[in-house]
Amino acid sequence: MHTKLDFNLTPFLTIWEVTRACALSCKHCRAEAMDQRDPRELNLEEGKKLLNDIAAMQTPIVIFTGGDSLQRDDLEDLIAHGKSLHLKTGAIPAATPRLTRERLASLGRAGIDQLALSLDASTAAAHDRLRGVEGSFEKTMQGARWIRELGIPLQINTTIGAWNFADVDALVALVDSLGIVFWEVFFLVPTGRGSELQGCAAEQYEEIFGKLYELSLRAPFIIKITEAPHYRRYIMQHSEAATLAAAAQDANRFMTKQNARGPRMGLSPLPVNAGKGFCFVDRIGDVYPSGFLPLSAGNVRNESIVSLYRSSPLFKEMRSPNLLKGRCGRCEYRDVCGGSRSRAYAVLGDYLGEDPCCIYQPADQ
Ligand code: SF4
Ligand code: SF4
Repeated sequence: MHTKLDFNLTPFLTIWEVTRACALSCKHCRAEAMDQRDPRELNLEEGKKLLNDIAAMQTPIVIFTGGDSLQRDDLEDLIAHGKSLHLKTGAIPAATPRLTRERLASLGRAGIDQLALSLDASTAAAHDRLRGVEGSFEKTMQGARWIRELGIPLQINTTIGAWNFADVDALVALVDSLGIVFWEVFFLVPTGRGSELQGCAAEQYEEIFGKLYELSLRAPFIIKITEAPHYRRYIMQHSEAATLAAAAQDANRFMTKQNARGPRMGLSPLPVNAGKGFCFVDRIGDVYPSGFLPLSAGNVRNESIVSLYRSSPLFKEMRSPNLLKGRCGRCEYRDVCGGSRSRAYAVLGDYLGEDPCCIYQPADQ
């Protein structure tokens, strides 16, 4: 099914922020999460309609994010509805007292395909400092054990920035020990509360790419990179293929290769970027090319996600590499990389500008 995807018609993945309420107060929170649920959130019926439309686009995967998705009592109903539409579903619960073995079991009974917990440091002190609540590291470790005991595939999400760059080796060792099927590594986009934090320098990205590349050669789990599409350029530069097209095929094979643990989800056969194989819906139904790019194409209460994704000017621009500017605009990797549109917007104020965290210098044309 996946190999037939046309990203002009179908996002590979849609992430829906079912609520913005969360009891943690992470320093890097994109959502600037709030204590209370927003009364304007999409309700259950609106959510089911959204899932119907997502399925109608042939999108294979939906992730329920937040905020803390456990703050929605109807999360199980949404998962079950997604299941009835043959969608693969995942959720990213926050490590708070709402994260109980009973609730996780309930998500499992509803049919969740994968559950992700966030882990940003190898030590409790550093993790809790970033998450703003003492004990969240221990809760995360406990949640990870429960998820594994319940037989639900476990994913870890990690955000990398200047604050934990030196901790990456220890983090790799810890993540490697948790029995996960999937590690999603985010690179900081300075937006939301994260705008107060410092990301890694472009040279540090290359160093981390090297570590993740080495790890992915031996790890029994999938490693997915988010908001650093130049990882694909890095992989292509390590290919021995004679042409760029052959190196791109090598990179596709490498980035979708099967690992020892399964089942797996989230592996796109084609390069995904903001608005190109990816779509984000916020708590009130606004649709964005990325959760880190605060520019909305419209709202699902007024227009279906299908037409917003396929036909809105913003999403069409996102799928037009010939519109890119600066180094990304003249880069031979622009079709398969394209740079982080979210970071270009956050740092330069131009979502078509170059990604300031890439070291690559394309030849002048
Ligand atoms: S757990 Fe997620 S939603 Fe909650 S404050 Fe942290 S980053 Fe924000
Ligand atoms: S210059 Fe832009 S398109 Fe080229 S590899 Fe770097 S981020 Fe990607």
